[in-house]
Amino acid sequence: MSKRRLSNEIFVGKVGIGGEHPISVQSMTTTKTNNIEKTLEQIYELAQNGIDIVRVTCNNVEAAKALVAICERSPVPVIADIHYQYKLALAAVEAGINGLRLNPGNIRNEKNIKDIARSCLDAKIPIRIGVNAGSLDKTLLAKHGVASPEALVESALMEARYLEAVNFTDIKISVKHSNVPLMVESYRLLADKVNYPLHLGVTEAGPLPGGLMKSVAGIATLLSEGIGDTIRLSLTTNPIEEAKFGRQLLEYLELRERKTLDLIACPSCGRAEVDVIKIANKAQKELEKEGFPIQVAVMGCIVNGPGEARSADLGIAAGKGKGHLFIKGEVVKVVEEADMVKALVEEGRLLVEEGIDARLAAADKNIAQIAKEDAKSLMELQGDINNLSSRTKSVVEIISKEDIEN
Ligand code: SF4
Repeated sequence: MSKRRLSNEIFVGKVGIGGEHPISVQSMTTTKTNNIEKTLEQIYELAQNGIDIVRVTCNNVEAAKALVAICERSPVPVIADIHYQYKLALAAVEAGINGLRLNPGNIRNEKNIKDIARSCLDAKIPIRIGVNAGSLDKTLLAKHGVASPEALVESALMEARYLEAVNFTDIKISVKHSNVPLMVESYRLLADKVNYPLHLGVTEAGPLPGGLMKSVAGIATLLSEGIGDTIRLSLTTNPIEEAKFGRQLLEYLELRERKTLDLIACPSCGRAEVDVIKIANKAQKELEKEGFPIQVAVMGCIVNGPGEARSADLGIAAGKGKGHLFIKGEVVKVVEEADMVKALVEEGRLLVEEGIDARLAAADKNIAQIAKEDAKSLMELQGDINNLSSRTKSVVEIISKEDIEN
């Protein structure tokens, strides 16, 4: 990962963006904003699943009015999303929102934009200049011919100049494109020209799994270059999923502390002693229910499993009808194959409650038993070799006993 680009610091409510602040996750509600209870219900669920900031559409007068109650009761800062009608932006500011998103492609009157900026200046709330390739300012589209990175950046800079003209600098910017290479290029260009924090996203990424792949490809590329201060995965799916994926992406990149389960599993191969896919899916479901913020491994065999998944806090490796439970690569218990997932859940709970050192210490007494089990497995392996046909035997004769055992 490259060193993070140092951007200006702004605040959306209590959430700091840019500067040294952690990269934040955003999502957007899909309810009708004037349905206050349903909108708040979704915001609470989004917050439980990892978002730091929520965006809500403010598309009519009823929505603007509802924002008063939504902002008062929301567990996370609320950004109002405005298109076309600048007066709705003014109304949303009055309603108590924590930030605005303006689309320069459809609020184009300079005076109106400056009026919005003055009102945000008084309310001390930031504005995101949200440029979108699909709704680029028509004059810029005509000038550039296509929604190129240069056109997107020009639109963002033009809007920034309007805001700066009235001394408004609490700005963050996005230049979203649905084409991943063009999205990446747009942000790179912009990052070279301004110090404002950047909100990353691949717009209209689409349904799973393609939408997720596009979003991750674009966002992770930029984050690895140190570009980006806040993200949204714009997926055509339940926004709760979107929130989870956004949060997980930052955790996987080690840009946020782990709050969710990270289940790793081998891809399985001919050595696997169990149906790895089935067990990994079952383990993921059961462990997610518990909400353990740990990394858990499901490995198909004892030969490579514990060693390859040594970084995992907890794991299980299958072997001849048994599951070898391990903590940080050390086998601590052997369980029946049918009990593998149950054992992971039980040990996961103890690990979260007592910590890794305590659980490793508690496991020492099982070591003799584990050694016995492992020796038995090796003897069974040797027995298999003795039963081979003479031709196959001659094949295995060229392999030393040590090689097989190792
Ligand atoms: Fe194959 Fe074992 Fe590696 Fe899984 S852990 S891919 S079963 S060698």
